[in-house]
Amino acid sequence: MFDERIYNFSAGPSMLPLPVLQQAQKELLNCSGSGMSVMEMSHRSSSFDSIFQDTKGRLRKLLAVPEDYEILFLQGGATTQFSMVPLNLMGTTGKADYALTGHFSTKAYEEAQKYGVCSVACSSAETQHTTIPQQDELQLSPSAAYFHYCANNTIYGTEWNYVPQTGAVPLVCDMSSNILSKPIDVAKYGLIYAGAQKNMAPAGVTVVIIRKDLAGHAMEKTPVMLNYAVQIKGDSMHNTPPCWCIYMLGLVLQWLEQLGGLSEMEKINAEKAAVLYRVLDESKLFHGTAQPEARSRMNVTFRTGDKDLDALFVKEAANAGFSNLKGHRLVGGMRASIYNAMPIEGVHALADFMRKFEKEHI
Ligand SMILES: *Cc1c(COP(=O)(O)O)cnc(C)c1O
Repeated sequence: MFDERIYNFSAGPSMLPLPVLQQAQKELLNCSGSGMSVMEMSHRSSSFDSIFQDTKGRLRKLLAVPEDYEILFLQGGATTQFSMVPLNLMGTTGKADYALTGHFSTKAYEEAQKYGVCSVACSSAETQHTTIPQQDELQLSPSAAYFHYCANNTIYGTEWNYVPQTGAVPLVCDMSSNILSKPIDVAKYGLIYAGAQKNMAPAGVTVVIIRKDLAGHAMEKTPVMLNYAVQIKGDSMHNTPPCWCIYMLGLVLQWLEQLGGLSEMEKINAEKAAVLYRVLDESKLFHGTAQPEARSRMNVTFRTGDKDLDALFVKEAANAGFSNLKGHRLVGGMRASIYNAMPIEGVHALADFMRKFEKEHI
């Protein structure tokens, strides 16, 4: 039992910025003089329309999304995009390239195989996904309709530190766990998607940023809700959108603006990650699982090498107010997810706790 908020290192759904929660609380019963909660508004009302357009505009500005790209607020999580991407984009050539650097990119690849020929452009399976392949290791098919990769591997704690070059083949990227953590050049991508619950908003909205010319080529039997062209035409309101999550995303975007935007956020995230990796590099007890050049700034994975000691660490940390440090069940060990909303104080406090634990157990 805790009387105060604790440092929550959950991989997702994860922490939201405190000022965002406070603002939402303030507006919970009566949002902007509407006399009602956002949860009670018609999605066709002018009150909600202004929230929707405001959120979309802020996201476009923060990520510098070019005019020839559409921003969509969809449902079904990133996992639905594993199907929606091939259904809409693969038909042009019937082929796609997939980079396999972890759990979710492999899931995306498996799903896409239902819809066409998928080639493995690279795989880090041999290193247990502790590395990220380099550009010259990518096997690119010139006739691929797109190249799919996952920018940050949430479970394995690795992150691409470069944008793959694929020539004329459009890049499709799952950015679920590092979107908004740093500036990106949207123009390098054909399509970006991200479930909201890691770095954007509560679970329930999936952001898709799509170059408009890529829509309109869906396979014939594509379900209407999974057709990008339909969603673009309806401005994400072919049916009821996830109104509350879109509103919350708007508040998170305002928080990011006040913080100084994505370049500022990137600096803070780099600093936060450096604090924890420094502990790992100096430690005789803990070691980081990702290779140094592939380290994620969002998910820091580590272990002691002793399962019981790992479990003890997770338990003692939880008692001390550091929750959700247990690694994903597929890999074990520990994982500290330090998305945008995790304050640097939380990271310093965890670093101190790790050093103290090491002294007591070495
Ligand atoms: C969490 C996660 C997913 C799955 O997201 P859902 O919204 O639960 O479908 C996919 N890809 C990455 C990189 C993730 O971190």
